Amino acid sequence: MQETALKGRKFAGSNRAPKTYSTARTCAHKGCGTQLSQYNKREHCYSHAPTKYPRLRGRIVKAEA
Ligand SMILES: [Zn+2]
Repeated sequence: MQETALKGRKFAGSNRAPKTYSTARTCAHKGCGTQLSQYNKREHCYSHAPTKYPRLRGRIVKAEA
């Protein structure tokens, strides 16, 4: 009799650590000593992270007076 069932290995999740970045990192901004989370892959703290503006379909938004 042919065996058709797929066999898998028992899931062993105990020896798998979550990916972490180096501990005790601080913000890359000059003079900012905000400590970053080891799970945060960014180089800046929340307030120094480069601001990303949402894409506005090619329109250039100007501050008009
Ligand atoms: Zn900062």
